[in-house]
Amino acid sequence: MVVTKPLALRARIILPVSQPAIEDGAVLVSRGRIAAVGRWRDLRHKAPACVHDLGDAIVLPGLVNAHCHLDYTDMAGAIPPPRSFLDWIEAIVALKAAWGYTDYAQSWLNGAKQLLHSGCTTVADIEAVPELLPEIWTATPLRVISFLELISVRRRQRPATLVWQATRMIHELPAGRSRAALSPHALYTTNPELLKFARRAAHRARWPLTMHVAESGLEFDMFQNGRGAMFNWLRKNGRDMDDCGTRSPVQQLAALKLLSPRFLAVHVNHLASGDARLLARASASVVHCPRSHAFFRHTPFPFTELHDARVNLCLGTDSLASIGKDNRRKPELDLFAELRAFAAQQPGLAPEEFLDLVTRNPAAALGERGRLGELTRRAQADLLVLRSKAALESAAETVVHTPPDLAGVMIAGEWAIEPSA
Ligand SMILES: [Zn+2]
Repeated sequence: MVVTKPLALRARIILPVSQPAIEDGAVLVSRGRIAAVGRWRDLRHKAPACVHDLGDAIVLPGLVNAHCHLDYTDMAGAIPPPRSFLDWIEAIVALKAAWGYTDYAQSWLNGAKQLLHSGCTTVADIEAVPELLPEIWTATPLRVISFLELISVRRRQRPATLVWQATRMIHELPAGRSRAALSPHALYTTNPELLKFARRAAHRARWPLTMHVAESGLEFDMFQNGRGAMFNWLRKNGRDMDDCGTRSPVQQLAALKLLSPRFLAVHVNHLASGDARLLARASASVVHCPRSHAFFRHTPFPFTELHDARVNLCLGTDSLASIGKDNRRKPELDLFAELRAFAAQQPGLAPEEFLDLVTRNPAAALGERGRLGELTRRAQADLLVLRSKAALESAAETVVHTPPDLAGVMIAGEWAIEPSA
């Protein structure tokens, strides 16, 4: 149902994330945005005629997924956990070669549906097939930030041309709920020249920029030491390896002036000494994808080092091509499941800090601080309704640790999933 009139949502608990939980609270929604958040008794006098009393429920902001590949959704369970990261790359390249536009479009839409039904309202998505835009945007209520993937291993095309083509495509896309930006895939699948042009284009347009960074030990070895299986494999495939052997991946990003408050470094499983400080000083963000990390059996994510350096940390789902089966069942995209997986490994954090990883932190990384990921005046009315009997003081903890009973999802003031009365 499209909500056209101002609406008041009353619930036993409102969890705004930007302030402590509110008992018997309300969120007033008008023109797609939040007009007020507070106690029902303080807001009832200005509530519009249309009041939706949600009863025993927790209302919280819609989750913001900081890294996904929707177009790989139907590859769920197709690749078994690999022995080496390079084996996985070869497997996914073979899978991709067998797919056509229709497969990718269907897969993307299935992924969008899974995210919506698991409480995501915004996704930072990597687009390997940008030709599907903008049609796929119009087929989902999700807020999508589509990062057009740039890859150039052998320099068949001039880097300037590649970036120019992607930039022109972005400018031709219609303005609306979703928008596009650039994602050079990784340091090892691009080159410094391409990264320079991408940085300039993103800077000029004030776009966020995202890249896979130091995901595997092989990538770290390639850049830091100029050796290893990835180094040899890419050299054999005709990549110019002049950028390898002197710096860690993070140092390389810093040297190329890529680190900025609008930069999302995805994975970052390997740090050299001082790398966490470099990321923090530039106010860059790091995105961790817990279930994908477990699938590859990477070395432990350097959470403590990044957290202590005060790096803005976010969680993402990554793609289903790199999430293992769960009790022989195909995995589904689910940011709450990622949050629970992460919380199980980091018992020392407060529940409020866990929630920030899937709400305010990714919103800030995407340049949407105060507009997404929190229930606050003037923010987008993107919110979730969870059926719950949790006590006020344990509401945040319940949301982090217990699979949610998702009853409703609102995006831009409209019900994408309407809670039953
Ligand atoms: Zn990825």
